[in-house]
Amino acid sequence: MSLTKKSPQWKQYEWLITKIFHDNSESKTETVLHDAKIIGEYSESSRQIDVLIENNNIKTIIECKHHSRPVDLKGLADFLEIFSDVKANFGILISSSGFTKSVHKRIKEFEGQITLENIDWEKAYSSFQEQSYGRITDLCNNCIDNYISGKEVPGLLCWEHGLGIEVNDKVSMYSIGKCLKCNNHTVYCDSCGWITIAEHEESCCKLRDIFIDLYNKT
Ligand SMILES: [Zn+2]
Ligand SMILES: [Zn+2]
Repeated sequence: MSLTKKSPQWKQYEWLITKIFHDNSESKTETVLHDAKIIGEYSESSRQIDVLIENNNIKTIIECKHHSRPVDLKGLADFLEIFSDVKANFGILISSSGFTKSVHKRIKEFEGQITLENIDWEKAYSSFQEQSYGRITDLCNNCIDNYISGKEVPGLLCWEHGLGIEVNDKVSMYSIGKCLKCNNHTVYCDSCGWITIAEHEESCCKLRDIFIDLYNKT
C-alpha cells in the first residue's frame, strides 16, 4: 500500500467517527470496528457497515455521511434498509452537515432505536490528540508523514489498554493500538517500556510476539 496516496475525505471522516466511539467505549466486552461486513438476512449479500459496535449479542451500526448538504429522506431510507437487513439492535446515522426537517420528523417512529447525530468535521477532528503528552500517542508512526493538520487525518490508533499475560509466574502488561489507516499494530510493552510497530520494527523483547499472537486470537 502506498502511503503517499491520499484517502478520500469521507473515509477520513469515518476514521474520526470510529476513533470517537472507540475512545468513548467503557465496556470491556464491547468492540468497535471500522468498515465491517455483515451478510444481510434478506438480501443474502454482504452489506458494508461504516462502524460496527458489538457488545455480547447487541449490534449497533453507524453510518457516516460527510456530504456538503444535509442528509435527506433518501439517505435515511438507505440506512433503514441496511438496518433492517443486518438485523441491528441500534443504529446511529451521523452527518457532518445535519439533516433535513423531514428526516427529523420521520425518525420519531424509531425512537429509542435509531438516533441522529450531527458531528461536523472540526468537531470530529478534535477527537484525537495531535501532541502526545505521555509515551502513548494517538498517532501511528507508520503513517504520520506529510499530513496537514486540521485538513487531513493521520493514521489514528485505537488502543486497547490494560492487557496482561502470565509468563513464568510473572504478569506482563501491554497495550496494543491498531491503526485505522494502515492496520498495523503499535505495541507498548510495559516490562521494557518500549513502543514498537509489530509489522515494521524489531521487537523490544521476546514478549511482543506473544502479545500480538494473543491479540490476534481474540
Ligand atoms: Zn498507520
Ligand atoms: Zn518488551
